[in-house]
Amino acid sequence: MSTVAFIGLGNMGGPMALNLIKAGFTVKVFDLVPAAMQTLAEQGALTATSACGAAAGADIVVTMLPAGKHVRSLYVTDDTSKGLIDVVAPGTLLIDCSTIDADSARFVAQHAANKGLEFIDAPVSGGTAGAAAGTLTFICGGSDTAFEQAQDALNAMGGNIFHAGGPGAGQVAKICNNMLLSVLMVATSESLQMGIDHGLDPKVLSEIMKVSSGGNWTLDKYNPCPDVMESVPSSNDYQGGFMVDLMVKDLGLSQEAALLSNSSTPMGALARSLYVNHAKQGNGKRDFSSIFEQFAQSEQIKK
Ligand code: NAD
Repeated sequence: MSTVAFIGLGNMGGPMALNLIKAGFTVKVFDLVPAAMQTLAEQGALTATSACGAAAGADIVVTMLPAGKHVRSLYVTDDTSKGLIDVVAPGTLLIDCSTIDADSARFVAQHAANKGLEFIDAPVSGGTAGAAAGTLTFICGGSDTAFEQAQDALNAMGGNIFHAGGPGAGQVAKICNNMLLSVLMVATSESLQMGIDHGLDPKVLSEIMKVSSGGNWTLDKYNPCPDVMESVPSSNDYQGGFMVDLMVKDLGLSQEAALLSNSSTPMGALARSLYVNHAKQGNGKRDFSSIFEQFAQSEQIKK
């Protein structure tokens, strides 16, 4: 089995690295937070004292970092220090699973190509539960060769693996999906609350809409109204799940992308605005389905 360097062991990266260990890969980890590395070391990972130290000698490098600036500066440095692409062996496959702007993904892919290295952007969908269960959806951008080469590692961490196109295409597909998800979550929230305002039971209304023309993923898997569905963030004070701050980041990326392509995305723009205000009201660390509370407040001013 090949050696994988895994860099960025947060909510997503930690469980993803663990699934690579379980699948039999030799995994060498690095994170700025020592405690995150310690947890993986107890599960059999090797640890490194720097990202470059983890990547040197690896067959595959996987990164799972917060944003584009982290990914750019780790792979390609703008000073005399070495980036990941300077230290990896020839033939090493580079896979970035973070959700970042497509331009940053293309920037790193181009610098990697200049050194004869393959890089794929492979953002994920499925959240922390999918990361833990090894059922993530990977949405990849890069060459056919790199996509084929990545299969074993991605299969160890995910269920569905898609090739969206060339460099950056994975990131474009990912932000299209998250823009749609945000719109569905907002629209489902306002519809449920209007039903409640008219005296309907949200459980009954949800069952009706699930099998009617308004049916969608948020009603099936992630109902935003508390106590309609078990084991979802809305029934746990909106803890866990996918943070509002991360949704705000993704909606910023989708609006940047829309500007670049001159695409009309009025629903995405409105959803971003609603989520930005929601974050400003102190909800940034809560699950994104807490947007429901913006509509629930209308109950108090109802005539
Ligand atoms: P997180 O903040 O929990 O983890 C990020 C980790 O990266 C942290 O442990 C941090 O210490 C580490 N890090 C940052 N800079 C580093 C560096 N230079 N070297 C080494 N380590 C570094 O974030 P997360 O929730 O794991 O999300 C990671 C990415 O996955 C983000 O791009 C996010 O948008 C995306 N994502 C998250 C979810 C989710 O549900 N949390 C779902 C899909 C996609």
